[in-house]
Amino acid sequence: MTNLNPRAIRGRLLTFLRAPAGAGDAQSYRYIDDGIVLTKDGRIDAVGPAYELEIRIPSGTPVEHFPGALIAPGFIDPHIHYPQTQVIASYGAQLLEWLEKYTFVEEQKFADPAHAARNAEFFLDELARNGTTTAVAYCTAHPVSADALFAAAHERNVGMIAGNSVMNRNGPPGLLAPGRTAIADSRELIRRWHGTGRQRYAVTPRFAITSTEEQLEELGALFKEFPTVLMQTHLDENLDEIAAVQKLFPDDASYTAVYHRFGLLGPRSLMGHCIHLKDPEIALLRDTRSVAVFCPTSNLFIGSGLFDYDGLKAAGVRIALATDVGGGTSYSMLRTAAEAYKVMQLRGQNLPALAAFDLITRGNAAALGLEGEIGVIAPGAFADLVVLDARATPAMAHRMDVARNLEEELFVLMTMGDDRSVRQTYIAGVPAL
Ligand SMILES: [Zn+2]
Repeated sequence: MTNLNPRAIRGRLLTFLRAPAGAGDAQSYRYIDDGIVLTKDGRIDAVGPAYELEIRIPSGTPVEHFPGALIAPGFIDPHIHYPQTQVIASYGAQLLEWLEKYTFVEEQKFADPAHAARNAEFFLDELARNGTTTAVAYCTAHPVSADALFAAAHERNVGMIAGNSVMNRNGPPGLLAPGRTAIADSRELIRRWHGTGRQRYAVTPRFAITSTEEQLEELGALFKEFPTVLMQTHLDENLDEIAAVQKLFPDDASYTAVYHRFGLLGPRSLMGHCIHLKDPEIALLRDTRSVAVFCPTSNLFIGSGLFDYDGLKAAGVRIALATDVGGGTSYSMLRTAAEAYKVMQLRGQNLPALAAFDLITRGNAAALGLEGEIGVIAPGAFADLVVLDARATPAMAHRMDVARNLEEELFVLMTMGDDRSVRQTYIAGVPAL
């Protein structure tokens, strides 16, 4: 376990208080031009202007000063596949072919604990390089893959949410566990990891196509049995996928209705993609307070479609923003925000920089039910932070020479920034880079 000694981190501080009503909503955030975050035991002990906090820093506390840099809450990625770090950038296929040709092949390698451990370390390194301090990750069907990720995250004190992808049909034999075994494996992983340090479990049906009715029913019962675990799956990503679901579940009114029938919707349910929802499905998501997870780089790369952000928001559906690596093409939540902006432009919508930065910090924390614990710079929250440099490249510095305010700086960061803009990442008050 890492060393949690107090630390003072100084720079320009930005944290969101609520979702911005639109561009220019200065009441939605707190900004301190020269601020200090004081950490203690991995959490934030105090936050304020440097002139106030300087005198309160206990003697001997290291002060890490980032003049000019912007210190924000660490980014949160609510949908990512840790076994797909070598699937990312696989050419030329839409969802179902992409799964068979690339993903299922790589995922079978995670039966080997050494392979899983190696990839878990790479995955956590890469998240930290990109300023992401919490992720919700799919593992493979092999319990050793989830064990490897949880063990590595626990060792680093990273707040990880993960679950093993449960499937028992329509996949290669190496990934298919029969119903009872898969459920027993998930239950055992919940007992071992859910609430161990900062680790949390998510019950994970890969998607409706890869589970029989019996298995979905057992997964729904498992989700109900543990009232604090989350649930993650995929929904309405691709038209061929939807047609396959209709064929497999002919008596259900919709794809969303299948998950609803098995008790898999609710305020702790993260539904990846949600691109082709019909009105009754939108109503189901809204009424159950389920979260629609927008994965723009994946949706563009796999050619799945354009998420209707404004439409779902107006309908009252909760929304989160995620990378979906390896269907997604970047680990960076900045790049992800940039692609979200472009998807919305194609729909005649806008994503103000304030809304984007709120979404990838406080907003995603709220979607996970973790508001106040992560995603904010406030006393009591974990000291998970990212230190951002909007002048990280010559082109960014050149553009920044004429930036007039914080909102423009944020827009430069999300449009041009990536891992090069991350100067440091703190995990529970400890530098990760
Ligand atoms: Zn996914």
